[in-house]
Amino acid sequence: MPKCDECGKSFTQFRAAGKCPKCGAWLKVTCDNCRFTADADEFLYGGGACPKCGQHTEVPGQKKRSCFIATAVYGKDQAADVLRLQLLRDTVLVKHRLGRWFVAAYELLSPGLARAVARSATLRALARTVIVRPAARIAGRMTAANRR
Ligand SMILES: [Zn+2]
Ligand SMILES: [Zn+2]
Repeated sequence: MPKCDECGKSFTQFRAAGKCPKCGAWLKVTCDNCRFTADADEFLYGGGACPKCGQHTEVPGQKKRSCFIATAVYGKDQAADVLRLQLLRDTVLVKHRLGRWFVAAYELLSPGLARAVARSATLRALARTVIVRPAARIAGRMTAANRR
């Protein structure tokens, strides 16, 4: 069970990846490769990559809520576009009421869509072109702007 260094409370559910749901502080994340430790947002902004060595490092709370459609389209979790979409959701959308509503609606609908997409190569190619690529491009721009 993750525990927050800031307020000392343990919790089971994340509201945003890497963030204490009780006090809102970023949790500390340590890179498995170089042992570099930083606030979770440093890793999230790099799309889950260690800011020092680039090794992919799992941020607590991030994995369970992967983007169903993007994952179905690419067949694995780690594609750069998938990480960019997750980053958009975890850093930008959750801050706005409309964004949270969108995320909730999306997560309600996407497992069914993802199953359909996973079954058909044509749908996969289509989803990649019309949904995932453009969304990832927007996500990249929004998260870059959000950081400044
Ligand atoms: Zn806390
Ligand atoms: Zn590292």
